[in-house]
Amino acid sequence: MKRIICLLLIICLLGGCTTAPKEDKYNVVASFYPVMLITKMATEGIDEIEVNILAPADTGCLHDYVLLPDDLKNLEKADLFVTNGLGMESFINKITEQLPNLNTADLSQGIIPFNDNSHIWLTPSNVKVMLNNICEVLTKDLPQFGNKISANREKYQKMLDGLDGEIKKADFGGEKVITCHEAFDYFANQYNLTVVGTVMSEHGQEPSVKELVETTDMVKETGVKIILAEPQYETDTVKTVSQETGAEIYMLDPIVTGDKNDLPQVYFDKMRENTSTLIKAIRKD
Ligand SMILES: [Zn+2]
Repeated sequence: MKRIICLLLIICLLGGCTTAPKEDKYNVVASFYPVMLITKMATEGIDEIEVNILAPADTGCLHDYVLLPDDLKNLEKADLFVTNGLGMESFINKITEQLPNLNTADLSQGIIPFNDNSHIWLTPSNVKVMLNNICEVLTKDLPQFGNKISANREKYQKMLDGLDGEIKKADFGGEKVITCHEAFDYFANQYNLTVVGTVMSEHGQEPSVKELVETTDMVKETGVKIILAEPQYETDTVKTVSQETGAEIYMLDPIVTGDKNDLPQVYFDKMRENTSTLIKAIRKD
């Protein structure tokens, strides 16, 4: 019996096993949902690369994310850890301390920060830079897939340019809005929306009573008609501001939650939905 087991082991070691274990794949771990979607743009159609996600896909922004012991175990098995950067992964120091040799790609490289804001993925032009960054790292690590990665980059850059053109055409005319948390600053800056304030405190915390009163006063003083709420932060606070001021609530999705099996097309669908919502909100009268 021992001899048979030994023989089987030798056959396996010589490459006789037909089913490749999962460990044979290049294991990319994206920090959270939007980073996963962008990583999947780069790796589309390459079966030898597996894209996983660190924070569960329904986590939302990582502002308050607390690293779990299992997260570090998962990262130990990663060939590459892909981050958004610009402070979104507030726990990054803990990771670099524990796993100093972890291969890491920061997708914010080359993006000019706007008000120290980390929600960079909400403009197609920023996603083009992020996509380029992940493609560069993957091509360096896996030159055998260079052509496929390059084709993916070209395909998605064209799609992102198309999306950018569609949003520009919508012409928001500098409309004043209140946002739920600070997710849409890059979007507003690029596509001519004026964010006069946010309902939530910094990093999506519920505001204090004093802050709530200040926001309500500001909406009244500036004549803002539109509150952009987010499905991830659908709270009574937003409703209170609306009731107090008469400004109407519209839902914009900051694309921070979904399913771990979602494909890059989700990004384009949600950006188009957001654009339609804004057109509806602005042209109502
Ligand atoms: Zn956020």
